[in-house]
Amino acid sequence: MTEIFTGSFTQQEPIPEEGIAAALEVLRHGRLHRYNTAPGEISQTALLEEEFAALSGARYCVAVASGGYALSTALRAVGVGAGDSVLSNAFTLAPVPGAIAAVGGVPVLVGVCGDLTIDLDDLTAKAGKARVLLLSHMRGHICDMDRLMAICEAAGVTVIEDCAHTMGAAWNGVPSGRHGAVGCHSCQTYKHVNAGEGGFLVTDDEDIAARAVLLSGSYMLYERHRAAPGPEAFERVKYVTPNMSGRMDNLRASILRPQLRALPGKVAAWNARYRLVEDGLRGTQGLRLIERGEAESYVGSSIQFLLPDWSAAKVAEVLRRCIRRGVELKWFGAAEPVAFTSRYDSWHYAPTAPMPATDRILAGLIDMRLPLTFSLEDCAMIARIIRAEVSTVFQSETPKI
Ligand SMILES: *Cc1c(COP(=O)(O)O)cnc(C)c1O
Repeated sequence: MTEIFTGSFTQQEPIPEEGIAAALEVLRHGRLHRYNTAPGEISQTALLEEEFAALSGARYCVAVASGGYALSTALRAVGVGAGDSVLSNAFTLAPVPGAIAAVGGVPVLVGVCGDLTIDLDDLTAKAGKARVLLLSHMRGHICDMDRLMAICEAAGVTVIEDCAHTMGAAWNGVPSGRHGAVGCHSCQTYKHVNAGEGGFLVTDDEDIAARAVLLSGSYMLYERHRAAPGPEAFERVKYVTPNMSGRMDNLRASILRPQLRALPGKVAAWNARYRLVEDGLRGTQGLRLIERGEAESYVGSSIQFLLPDWSAAKVAEVLRRCIRRGVELKWFGAAEPVAFTSRYDSWHYAPTAPMPATDRILAGLIDMRLPLTFSLEDCAMIARIIRAEVSTVFQSETPKI
Protein backbone atom coordinates (compact mmCIF):
# COMPACT_ATOMS: atom_id res chain seq x y z
CA MET A 1 0.00 0.00 0.00
CA THR A 2 1.32 3.44 -0.91
CA GLU A 3 0.98 5.79 2.05
CA ILE A 4 -0.39 9.25 1.27
CA PHE A 5 -0.08 12.06 3.80
CA THR A 6 -3.10 14.35 4.00
CA GLY A 7 -2.06 16.97 6.57
CA SER A 8 -1.45 20.65 5.74
CA PHE A 9 2.11 22.00 5.91
CA THR A 10 0.76 25.51 6.43
CA GLN A 11 -1.74 24.82 9.22
CA GLN A 12 -0.59 26.14 12.58
CA GLU A 13 -2.22 25.48 15.93
CA PRO A 14 -5.18 27.61 17.00
CA ILE A 15 -4.62 30.63 19.23
CA PRO A 16 -4.83 29.50 22.88
CA GLU A 17 -8.25 30.10 24.51
CA GLU A 18 -6.60 32.46 26.97
CA GLY A 19 -5.42 34.58 24.05
CA ILE A 20 -8.84 34.55 22.42
CA ALA A 21 -10.41 35.75 25.69
CA ALA A 22 -7.79 38.51 26.03
CA ALA A 23 -8.36 39.55 22.41
CA LEU A 24 -12.12 39.78 22.99
CA GLU A 25 -11.51 42.01 25.97
CA VAL A 26 -9.42 44.37 23.82
CA LEU A 27 -12.07 44.34 21.09
CA ARG A 28 -14.78 45.10 23.64
CA HIS A 29 -13.00 48.09 25.19
CA GLY A 30 -11.79 49.28 21.79
CA ARG A 31 -8.41 50.63 22.86
CA LEU A 32 -6.38 48.86 20.19
CA HIS A 33 -3.71 51.49 19.70
CA ARG A 34 -0.83 50.82 22.07
CA TYR A 35 -0.81 54.35 23.49
CA ASN A 36 -4.58 54.45 23.96
CA THR A 37 -4.88 53.56 27.64
CA ALA A 38 -7.44 54.29 30.36
CA PRO A 39 -6.12 56.05 33.50
CA GLY A 40 -3.84 53.63 35.34
CA GLU A 41 -4.01 51.04 32.57
CA ILE A 42 -0.85 49.42 31.19
CA SER A 43 -1.33 48.46 27.57
CA GLN A 44 -1.13 44.86 26.39
CA THR A 45 1.74 45.88 24.11
CA ALA A 46 3.78 47.39 26.96
CA LEU A 47 3.22 44.25 29.05
CA LEU A 48 4.18 42.03 26.13
CA GLU A 49 7.45 43.93 25.72
CA GLU A 50 8.28 43.47 29.39
CA GLU A 51 7.51 39.76 29.18
CA PHE A 52 9.58 39.24 26.04
CA ALA A 53 12.49 41.18 27.54
CA ALA A 54 12.34 38.90 30.60
CA LEU A 55 12.08 35.77 28.45
CA SER A 56 15.14 36.69 26.43
CA GLY A 57 17.09 38.22 29.31
CA ALA A 58 17.33 41.59 27.57
CA ARG A 59 17.12 44.98 29.25
CA TYR A 60 14.99 46.51 26.51
CA CYS A 61 12.37 45.29 24.06
CA VAL A 62 10.30 47.05 21.39
CA ALA A 63 7.33 45.27 19.81
CA VAL A 64 6.72 46.23 16.19
CA ALA A 65 4.57 45.50 13.16
CA SER A 66 6.68 42.73 11.58
CA GLY A 67 9.96 40.87 11.70
CA GLY A 68 11.15 42.68 8.60
CA TYR A 69 10.31 46.02 10.23
CA ALA A 70 12.32 44.99 13.32
CA LEU A 71 15.31 44.31 11.05
CA SER A 72 15.17 47.62 9.20
CA THR A 73 14.60 49.49 12.47
CA ALA A 74 17.60 47.77 14.05
CA LEU A 75 19.74 48.75 11.05
CA ARG A 76 18.61 52.38 11.33
CA ALA A 77 19.07 52.36 15.11
CA VAL A 78 22.72 51.30 14.81
CA GLY A 79 23.28 54.03 12.25
CA VAL A 80 23.05 52.35 8.83
CA GLY A 81 22.04 54.86 6.16
CA ALA A 82 21.84 55.23 2.41
CA GLY A 83 24.81 53.80 0.57
CA ASP A 84 26.24 51.92 3.57
CA SER A 85 27.34 48.34 3.01
CA VAL A 86 25.84 45.68 5.30
CA LEU A 87 27.16 42.13 5.55
CA SER A 88 24.52 39.40 5.53
CA ASN A 89 23.89 35.76 4.68
CA ALA A 90 23.56 34.57 1.10
CA PHE A 91 21.36 31.77 2.46
CA THR A 92 18.34 33.45 4.01
CA LEU A 93 14.85 34.64 3.12
CA ALA A 94 14.03 37.73 1.09
CA PRO A 95 13.02 40.04 4.03
CA VAL A 96 16.66 40.07 5.18
CA PRO A 97 18.28 41.64 2.10
CA GLY A 98 14.97 43.50 1.81
CA ALA A 99 15.52 45.17 5.20
CA ILE A 100 18.97 46.31 4.08
CA ALA A 101 17.47 47.70 0.87
CA ALA A 102 14.72 49.41 2.92
CA VAL A 103 17.31 51.64 4.62
CA GLY A 104 19.15 52.30 1.36
CA GLY A 105 21.97 49.94 2.35
CA VAL A 106 23.95 47.69 0.04
CA PRO A 107 24.01 43.98 0.96
CA VAL A 108 27.41 42.27 0.94
CA LEU A 109 26.49 38.60 0.99
CA VAL A 110 28.49 35.94 2.82
CA GLY A 111 28.42 32.26 1.83
CA VAL A 112 26.92 29.26 3.60
CA CYS A 113 28.66 26.14 4.97
CA GLY A 114 27.53 22.52 4.69
CA ASP A 115 25.95 22.77 8.15
CA LEU A 116 23.80 25.67 6.79
CA THR A 117 25.43 28.31 8.99
CA ILE A 118 27.28 31.38 7.72
CA ASP A 119 30.76 30.65 6.30
CA LEU A 120 33.03 32.21 8.92
CA ASP A 121 36.09 32.12 6.65
CA ASP A 122 34.17 34.06 4.02
CA LEU A 123 32.96 36.44 6.76
CA THR A 124 36.56 36.98 7.90
CA ALA A 125 37.55 37.78 4.33
CA LYS A 126 34.68 40.26 3.84
CA ALA A 127 34.46 41.78 7.36
CA GLY A 128 36.47 44.87 6.33
CA LYS A 129 33.81 45.81 3.77
CA ALA A 130 31.10 46.93 6.21
CA ARG A 131 30.45 48.21 9.73
CA VAL A 132 27.38 46.05 10.36
CA LEU A 133 26.51 42.37 9.98
CA LEU A 134 22.84 41.40 9.72
CA LEU A 135 23.24 37.76 10.74
CA SER A 136 20.39 35.44 9.80
CA HIS A 137 20.08 32.26 11.86
CA MET A 138 18.41 30.85 8.80
CA ARG A 139 16.16 27.84 9.40
CA GLY A 140 17.32 27.91 13.01
CA HIS A 141 20.95 26.93 12.35
CA ILE A 142 23.25 28.80 14.73
CA CYS A 143 26.95 29.13 13.90
CA ASP A 144 29.84 29.18 16.39
CA MET A 145 28.77 32.48 17.96
CA ASP A 146 32.00 32.89 19.94
CA ARG A 147 34.05 32.76 16.77
CA LEU A 148 31.60 34.99 14.90
CA MET A 149 31.64 37.63 17.64
CA ALA A 150 35.46 37.51 17.79
CA ILE A 151 35.69 38.06 14.01
CA CYS A 152 33.23 40.95 14.19
CA GLU A 153 34.81 42.56 17.25
CA ALA A 154 38.26 42.42 15.64
CA ALA A 155 36.89 44.11 12.51
CA GLY A 156 34.75 46.67 14.37
CA VAL A 157 31.53 45.17 12.96
CA THR A 158 28.26 45.58 14.90
CA VAL A 159 26.11 42.43 14.86
CA ILE A 160 22.32 42.42 14.44
CA GLU A 161 20.75 38.97 14.74
CA ASP A 162 17.78 37.87 12.66
CA CYS A 163 16.09 35.35 14.97
CA ALA A 164 13.00 34.70 12.85
CA HIS A 165 13.68 30.95 13.23
CA THR A 166 15.41 30.93 16.63
CA MET A 167 12.89 32.32 19.11
CA GLY A 168 13.32 29.88 22.02
CA ALA A 169 16.75 28.68 20.83
CA ALA A 170 20.15 29.28 22.43
CA TRP A 171 23.85 28.90 21.77
CA ASN A 172 25.98 27.76 24.68
CA GLY A 173 23.08 28.61 26.98
CA VAL A 174 22.76 32.21 25.74
CA PRO A 175 19.37 32.90 24.09
CA SER A 176 19.55 33.55 20.39
CA GLY A 177 19.50 37.28 19.75
CA ARG A 178 21.60 38.06 22.83
CA HIS A 179 25.10 37.77 21.34
CA GLY A 180 24.94 40.78 19.04
CA ALA A 181 23.98 44.39 19.75
CA VAL A 182 20.37 43.75 18.69
CA GLY A 183 18.18 40.65 18.28
CA CYS A 184 15.16 40.74 15.97
CA HIS A 185 12.25 38.31 16.07
CA SER A 186 9.14 37.69 14.00
CA CYS A 187 5.61 36.89 15.23
CA GLN A 188 4.36 36.15 11.75
CA THR A 189 2.08 33.10 11.39
CA TYR A 190 4.79 30.66 10.27
CA LYS A 191 7.25 31.49 13.06
CA HIS A 192 7.29 30.34 16.70
CA VAL A 193 4.51 32.59 17.96
CA ASN A 194 1.60 33.64 15.78
CA ALA A 195 0.01 37.08 15.65
CA GLY A 196 -0.46 37.03 11.89
CA GLU A 197 2.18 39.76 11.71
CA GLY A 198 4.48 41.24 14.32
CA GLY A 199 8.03 41.46 15.56
CA PHE A 200 10.36 42.25 18.45
CA LEU A 201 13.66 43.98 18.77
CA VAL A 202 15.74 43.35 21.92
CA THR A 203 18.92 45.08 23.07
CA ASP A 204 20.87 46.08 26.17
CA ASP A 205 22.03 49.33 24.59
CA GLU A 206 19.99 52.30 25.78
CA ASP A 207 20.70 54.54 22.80
CA ILE A 208 19.72 51.82 20.34
CA ALA A 209 16.60 51.10 22.40
CA ALA A 210 15.57 54.76 22.57
CA ARG A 211 16.10 55.23 18.83
CA ALA A 212 14.14 52.05 18.07
CA VAL A 213 11.19 53.20 20.21
CA LEU A 214 11.09 56.58 18.46
CA LEU A 215 11.58 55.05 15.01
CA SER A 216 8.77 52.56 15.67
CA GLY A 217 6.34 55.45 15.92
CA SER A 218 6.12 56.42 19.60
CA TYR A 219 5.57 60.14 18.91
CA MET A 220 6.47 61.66 22.29
CA LEU A 221 4.62 58.93 24.20
CA TYR A 222 7.75 56.86 24.81
CA GLU A 223 7.25 57.09 28.58
CA ARG A 224 4.42 54.56 28.21
CA HIS A 225 7.03 51.93 27.35
CA ARG A 226 8.19 49.85 30.29
CA ALA A 227 10.95 47.71 28.75
CA ALA A 228 12.68 50.90 27.63
CA PRO A 229 15.41 53.20 28.97
CA GLY A 230 14.70 56.25 31.10
CA PRO A 231 13.82 59.74 29.78
CA GLU A 232 17.49 60.85 29.61
CA ALA A 233 18.13 58.38 26.78
CA PHE A 234 15.20 59.81 24.82
CA GLU A 235 16.31 63.38 25.47
CA ARG A 236 19.58 62.58 23.70
CA VAL A 237 17.95 61.32 20.49
CA LYS A 238 14.41 62.65 20.26
CA TYR A 239 15.10 65.63 17.99
CA VAL A 240 17.16 63.66 15.50
CA THR A 241 15.22 60.40 15.23
CA PRO A 242 12.40 60.28 12.70
CA ASN A 243 9.06 58.63 13.44
CA MET A 244 8.62 55.71 11.02
CA SER A 245 5.39 54.17 12.23
CA GLY A 246 5.46 50.39 12.52
CA ARG A 247 3.93 49.77 15.95
CA MET A 248 2.54 46.59 17.46
CA ASP A 249 -1.12 46.95 18.54
CA ASN A 250 -2.93 45.71 21.64
CA LEU A 251 -4.98 43.10 19.79
CA ARG A 252 -1.90 41.26 18.55
CA ALA A 253 -0.13 41.75 21.86
CA SER A 254 -3.05 40.18 23.70
CA ILE A 255 -2.87 36.97 21.68
CA LEU A 256 0.92 36.83 21.90
CA ARG A 257 1.25 37.05 25.68
CA PRO A 258 -0.14 33.56 26.42
CA GLN A 259 1.85 32.20 23.48
CA LEU A 260 5.10 33.42 25.05
CA ARG A 261 4.21 31.54 28.22
CA ALA A 262 3.54 28.39 26.18
CA LEU A 263 6.77 28.66 24.18
CA PRO A 264 8.94 26.18 26.14
CA GLY A 265 6.30 23.45 25.73
CA LYS A 266 6.02 24.20 22.03
CA VAL A 267 9.78 23.99 21.61
CA ALA A 268 9.75 20.51 23.17
CA ALA A 269 6.88 19.46 20.88
CA TRP A 270 8.72 20.74 17.78
CA ASN A 271 11.92 18.99 18.75
CA ALA A 272 10.14 15.67 19.32
CA ARG A 273 8.76 15.94 15.76
CA TYR A 274 12.11 17.02 14.36
CA ARG A 275 13.92 14.07 15.93
CA LEU A 276 11.33 11.60 14.64
CA VAL A 277 11.75 12.83 11.07
CA GLU A 278 15.53 12.95 11.48
CA ASP A 279 15.64 9.38 12.81
CA GLY A 280 13.36 8.24 10.01
CA LEU A 281 15.67 9.74 7.38
CA ARG A 282 18.95 8.64 8.92
CA GLY A 283 20.90 6.26 6.68
CA THR A 284 18.88 7.05 3.53
CA GLN A 285 21.19 6.52 0.56
CA GLY A 286 22.17 9.75 -1.17
CA LEU A 287 20.71 11.97 1.58
CA ARG A 288 22.74 13.94 4.13
CA LEU A 289 21.25 15.16 7.38
CA ILE A 290 22.43 18.39 8.98
CA GLU A 291 24.11 17.37 12.24
CA ARG A 292 23.61 19.88 15.08
CA GLY A 293 26.45 20.71 17.46
CA GLU A 294 26.39 20.32 21.24
CA ALA A 295 26.37 24.06 21.87
CA GLU A 296 23.26 24.63 19.78
CA SER A 297 19.85 24.24 21.41
CA TYR A 298 17.56 24.61 18.46
CA VAL A 299 13.84 24.72 17.72
CA GLY A 300 12.91 22.07 15.16
CA SER A 301 10.03 23.96 13.55
CA SER A 302 11.44 22.95 10.17
CA ILE A 303 13.97 20.37 8.98
CA GLN A 304 16.57 20.53 6.24
CA PHE A 305 18.61 17.89 4.44
CA LEU A 306 20.97 17.78 1.49
CA LEU A 307 20.89 15.73 -1.68
CA PRO A 308 24.56 16.51 -2.30
CA ASP A 309 25.67 16.85 -5.91
CA TRP A 310 22.42 15.46 -7.29
CA SER A 311 21.37 16.65 -10.73
CA ALA A 312 18.63 19.29 -10.77
CA ALA A 313 16.43 16.84 -12.68
CA LYS A 314 16.71 14.23 -9.94
CA VAL A 315 16.04 16.71 -7.14
CA ALA A 316 12.98 17.96 -9.02
CA GLU A 317 11.82 14.36 -9.43
CA VAL A 318 12.04 13.80 -5.63
CA LEU A 319 9.92 16.92 -5.05
CA ARG A 320 7.35 15.79 -7.62
CA ARG A 321 7.10 12.31 -6.15
CA CYS A 322 6.83 13.58 -2.59
CA ILE A 323 4.13 16.14 -3.34
CA ARG A 324 2.13 13.42 -5.11
CA ARG A 325 2.15 11.64 -1.75
CA GLY A 326 1.17 14.80 0.13
CA VAL A 327 4.64 15.79 1.35
CA GLU A 328 5.53 19.38 0.53
CA LEU A 329 9.27 20.00 0.22
CA LYS A 330 10.97 23.30 -0.63
CA TRP A 331 14.13 23.43 -2.69
CA PHE A 332 16.70 26.21 -2.33
CA GLY A 333 18.39 25.16 -5.57
CA ALA A 334 15.48 25.92 -7.88
CA ALA A 335 16.38 28.30 -10.70
CA GLU A 336 13.36 30.55 -10.08
CA PRO A 337 12.05 31.90 -6.73
CA VAL A 338 8.88 30.07 -5.61
CA ALA A 339 6.49 31.12 -2.80
CA PHE A 340 8.61 31.94 0.30
CA THR A 341 11.79 30.43 -1.13
CA SER A 342 14.34 32.40 -3.16
CA ARG A 343 18.07 32.26 -3.80
CA TYR A 344 20.57 35.11 -3.49
CA ASP A 345 20.98 35.37 -7.26
CA SER A 346 17.26 36.22 -7.52
CA TRP A 347 17.81 39.45 -5.55
CA HIS A 348 18.92 41.61 -8.48
CA TYR A 349 18.88 44.73 -6.28
CA ALA A 350 21.75 43.11 -4.35
CA PRO A 351 24.19 42.10 -7.08
CA THR A 352 26.74 39.57 -5.85
CA ALA A 353 29.65 37.78 -7.45
CA PRO A 354 28.88 34.08 -7.88
CA MET A 355 29.70 31.90 -4.85
CA PRO A 356 30.39 28.41 -6.23
CA ALA A 357 30.74 26.68 -2.83
CA THR A 358 27.43 28.19 -1.67
CA ASP A 359 25.74 27.33 -4.96
CA ARG A 360 26.83 23.72 -4.58
CA ILE A 361 25.16 23.49 -1.16
CA LEU A 362 21.98 25.33 -2.17
CA ALA A 363 21.68 23.11 -5.29
CA GLY A 364 20.92 20.10 -3.08
CA LEU A 365 19.21 21.83 -0.15
CA ILE A 366 15.72 20.64 0.79
CA ASP A 367 13.58 22.21 3.46
CA MET A 368 10.35 21.09 5.10
CA ARG A 369 8.07 22.74 7.66
CA LEU A 370 6.95 20.83 10.72
CA PRO A 371 3.80 22.54 12.02
CA LEU A 372 2.65 21.45 15.47
CA THR A 373 -0.65 20.31 13.99
CA PHE A 374 1.30 17.22 12.80
CA SER A 375 1.16 14.29 15.20
CA LEU A 376 4.21 12.18 15.96
CA GLU A 377 2.70 9.44 13.78
CA ASP A 378 2.30 11.99 10.94
CA CYS A 379 5.99 12.80 11.25
CA ALA A 380 6.98 9.14 11.13
CA MET A 381 4.87 8.68 8.00
CA ILE A 382 6.35 11.76 6.33
CA ALA A 383 9.86 10.39 6.98
CA ARG A 384 8.89 7.01 5.46
CA ILE A 385 7.56 8.75 2.34
CA ILE A 386 10.65 10.91 1.85
CA ARG A 387 12.96 7.99 2.52
CA ALA A 388 11.19 5.79 -0.03
CA GLU A 389 11.07 8.47 -2.74
CA VAL A 390 14.66 9.65 -2.25
CA SER A 391 15.86 6.03 -2.40
CA THR A 392 13.87 5.30 -5.55
CA VAL A 393 15.14 8.37 -7.38
CA PHE A 394 18.70 7.88 -6.11
CA GLN A 395 18.79 4.39 -7.59
CA SER A 396 17.04 5.32 -10.83
CA GLU A 397 18.52 6.40 -14.13
CA THR A 398 18.28 10.13 -14.82
CA PRO A 399 14.52 10.76 -14.84
CA LYS A 400 12.73 11.87 -17.95
CA ILE A 401 11.20 15.35 -17.56
C1 LIG B 1 10.01 35.53 8.31
C2 LIG B 1 11.40 35.96 8.26
C3 LIG B 1 11.78 37.27 8.51
C4 LIG B 1 10.85 38.44 8.65
O1 LIG B 1 9.70 38.24 9.23
P1 LIG B 1 8.29 38.97 8.81
O2 LIG B 1 7.66 39.03 10.13
O3 LIG B 1 7.64 38.08 7.81
O4 LIG B 1 8.62 40.32 8.25
C5 LIG B 1 13.13 37.55 8.57
N1 LIG B 1 14.04 36.61 8.37
C6 LIG B 1 13.73 35.35 8.08
C7 LIG B 1 14.81 34.36 7.89
C8 LIG B 1 12.39 34.98 8.00
O5 LIG B 1 12.08 33.72 7.71
